[in-house]
Amino acid sequence: MNQAKRKLILERLAATIPNPATELHYATPFELLVAVILSAQSTDKGVNKATAKLFPVANTPAAILALGEEGLKEYIKTIGFYNSKARHILALSRILLDKHGGRVPETREELEALPGVGRKTASVILNTAFGQSVIAVDRHIFRVANRTGLAPGRNVLEVERGLEKYVPDAFKKDVHHLLILHGRYTCIARKPRCGSCVIADLCEYPHKSGLA
Ligand code: SF4
Repeated sequence: MNQAKRKLILERLAATIPNPATELHYATPFELLVAVILSAQSTDKGVNKATAKLFPVANTPAAILALGEEGLKEYIKTIGFYNSKARHILALSRILLDKHGGRVPETREELEALPGVGRKTASVILNTAFGQSVIAVDRHIFRVANRTGLAPGRNVLEVERGLEKYVPDAFKKDVHHLLILHGRYTCIARKPRCGSCVIADLCEYPHKSGLA
């Protein structure tokens, strides 16, 4: 795919997705960190439902620690893998208090040193909480980048490198959410909605479905 086409794809997506933002509800970097950890292999909707009750009671590392493991689990037990997620959230809360003055750090290295925080979660926090032009690649982005030809890759790291290389600077901050939302609602996994896709004429996927 050439750069002119890439730019056109991103311009079209930006025009149809005027507010490219996470669908997780949060008000602070710590709330976002907790929500992103809870969202692994779970829906944003399910996470929002749980955090709507949790955050008014505990939305700081100290308050989470005060809840304790059993207390925290009561709020998140509807979410998959809540046992290990609760342990990670408690352990990272302790580290945030002990090493970072209760604040979420703003570097990848410090973020990835926290329990339960891998490359993708760190990238989401850097991008969404701190406004850095970091591109986190999740399953939606992996699929869309490969299908369209925007940045093909055999694994998430290859796609991430491709997006970093090919996405024009003007779109680097928003491309993460543009591609997630496009993948979540239009370029869905099983049967992409190519008939209503605004980039159908530019996309290089050979198996488009639903076109007239
Ligand atoms: S045309 Fe189809 S495969 Fe291509 S991006 Fe749109 S929905 Fe996805």
